[in-house]
Amino acid sequence: MTLLPVTLIGDKILKKKTSNLKVVDVKTVELIRDMFDTMRNANGIGLAANQVGADKSIFVIDVSVVEGNEEIKPIVFINPKITYRSEEKIKIEEGCLSIPDIRAEIERPESITIVYKDTEFKEKTLKADGLLARVIQHEYDHLQGILFTDLIDDQLKKKINKDIIKIKKRKIDFQYPVTESVDYQIA
Ligand code: ZN
Repeated sequence: MTLLPVTLIGDKILKKKTSNLKVVDVKTVELIRDMFDTMRNANGIGLAANQVGADKSIFVIDVSVVEGNEEIKPIVFINPKITYRSEEKIKIEEGCLSIPDIRAEIERPESITIVYKDTEFKEKTLKADGLLARVIQHEYDHLQGILFTDLIDDQLKKKINKDIIKIKKRKIDFQYPVTESVDYQIA
């Protein structure tokens, strides 16, 4: 099992739009495997490549550990594009491995359609709602350089600012390996 250090809010790569892949090579397969290891070790249900320092449009999801979602298999999304967002929106509390111990209610479309490439680089289309749609939208945002803390109101931003600074200074107890430098990048 390979655990990659998780990039944290303030790390530069989290603010950049990731690059699309042209092929899935051996290194990419290794990266995806390591992303699953890293995500599960940290008790996460979704992880984007730039959260482990890779400039690649990939995210992985496994919501089967959450009650009521046991039937949903782990999914790898490569070069994803959300092609539909429902007008109906719902508020759900979110957290993020790159912003440990901070949670906030975020309003997003209830259901979505996403087109992506699988690990064989075949095009797939997935319609999702509920928790799956929520996790997909959160991870998809990561690939655009957007964190959930970019979506909260100024009042809440002020409230959590001290905690964000602690994370940036690595002054909290991390439950999994994290990066030491804001310039961390692996690919
Ligand atoms: Zn996140």
